[in-house]
Parts: sequence; C-alpha cells; structure tokens
Amino acid sequence: LFLAAHGQEEVSKDHELTTLEETSEKYEFQAEVASLMDIIINSLYINKEVFLRELISNASDAMDKVRFLALMNPEKDYGDLEIRISYDPAKKTLTISDKGIGMTKTDLVEKLGTVARSGTTQFLEAIAKGGSINLIGQFGVGFYSSFLAADKVTVVSKHDDDDQYIWTSSAGPQFTVKKDPRGNTLGRGTEVILKLKQDAEEFLDKKTIQDTIKSYSEFIDYPIYLYLEKD
Ligand code: ADP
Ligand code: MG
Repeated sequence: LFLAAHGQEEVSKDHELTTLEETSEKYEFQAEVASLMDIIINSLYINKEVFLRELISNASDAMDKVRFLALMNPEKDYGDLEIRISYDPAKKTLTISDKGIGMTKTDLVEKLGTVARSGTTQFLEAIAKGGSINLIGQFGVGFYSSFLAADKVTVVSKHDDDDQYIWTSSAGPQFTVKKDPRGNTLGRGTEVILKLKQDAEEFLDKKTIQDTIKSYSEFIDYPIYLYLEKD
C-alpha cells in the first residue's frame, strides 16, 4: 500500500450531475438486492467503514483486469493504474475513482442491479441469523455496502467498449442509468460518488479516511491518493 496524502491540493470537479437534463432510464433492482439495500441503508451497524474496503477492493479488481490486458497487449498504453479518493466537506461527498476496466451501460444495469446473484440470498439469510455485515464482500455483494455510509450513490463509468454512463440510486426499489451528458471525462475507469449520511460525516475527515484505508486496505497493490476537493 502506498498512501499519498494530497491534503491541501485543490481539485475542481463537476458534481452537479443531477441538475443536467438528459433522458435517464429507470430500472427495478432485483428483488433480493432491493431487500439487501433496504437493510443496509437502515442498519445502525457501527462498522460502517467496511464500505471503503469494499469499494477499494472493487477498484483494485477492475485494475487487475486492465493489468491482465496490458500483459496480453504489451504494445498498448493502458496508463497509470491508481485509486483516487477525494472528499468534499461542503457537498458531503466522498468519491472513490479508479483507472480500472470500467463498466458498459449493460454492466451498470446488470452488475449493479438487475441480475440475481446467489450470494444476495445467502447474505440476507446470514444477517437474519445474526451474522455480521462485515462479511458482505464474501457474498459477492460488497458494492451495496456503500449504503452503510451513503443515502445516495452515483457511479460514473467508462469502459473502452461503450460511452460514459451514470448510474444513480438512493436505495429505493429503482435505480437510473443515463448517458453522461458531459461525454467521456474519465478516459477509462469508474468513479463512485457517495453522498454521505449524516451519521457517516466522519468520513469527510482526512485522518479518518487515512486510518480506515491503512487498517482495511493494507494489501492493495495500487497507489491510493487522497484529495480534498474545493470549489
Ligand atoms: P464482487 O466484487 O464480489 O463481484 P460487488 O458487489 O463488490 O461484488 O461488485 C459487483 C460487480 O460490479 C463486480 O463484480 C464488477 O463487475 C462490478 N464493479 C463494481 N465496482 C466496479 C469498479 N470500480 N470497476 C468496474 N467494475 C465494478
Ligand atoms: Mg467487490
């Protein structure tokens, strides 16, 4: 793990995604996924920081796929593989970005919502028996731990085979996907923007984020940079 703190560095990004008019399509979450999210968003589980481990692990998995492609195609330039975490205390957002493989529109719809996974039901059963939410990653549904800390999650993703798309959910029964009206701003990769819940605002603090990354993501193979966003 290589953790560089760019604490005072200014990064200006456009987070006004919701104000942009663009036709967005609505999809229904697969039923068990909807139940899972409902449990997670309403849980008073204290180890909320689990979400950061899961999102960093997804970023790392997505970059492993690029690293594999790079081995197969040594003539091509796949760019630097890194994770950026930025926080914006004014907007109460925490963003995890990666230079991984990205998700096509179909990936966003299926992998983050409509396609059933055996782990969903197993995890629901495990929780019902008093199992820990901490184990969420082992059931293949780690992404949804975002809702431990966030009441709204936005995923912007760019895969080489498709345009850039925006997925959003506030953990209701539906989610939306639309083409990003800004075009391709990511190049390739994924940005997960968490609008933090009131009881998760501790993750707008540099030290808390750093300590969480250090304790949970020690063995991540890619550099993780931390930024404070300012308008
Ligand atoms: P798992 O990582 O065990 O497959 P998750 O719920 O964490 O389960 O993620 C579900 C799927 O969503 C992943 O398998 C992957 O296909 C996709 N995904 C999630 N995050 C990313 C990301 N940052 N980049 C690319 N794909 C992602
Ligand atoms: Mg995962």
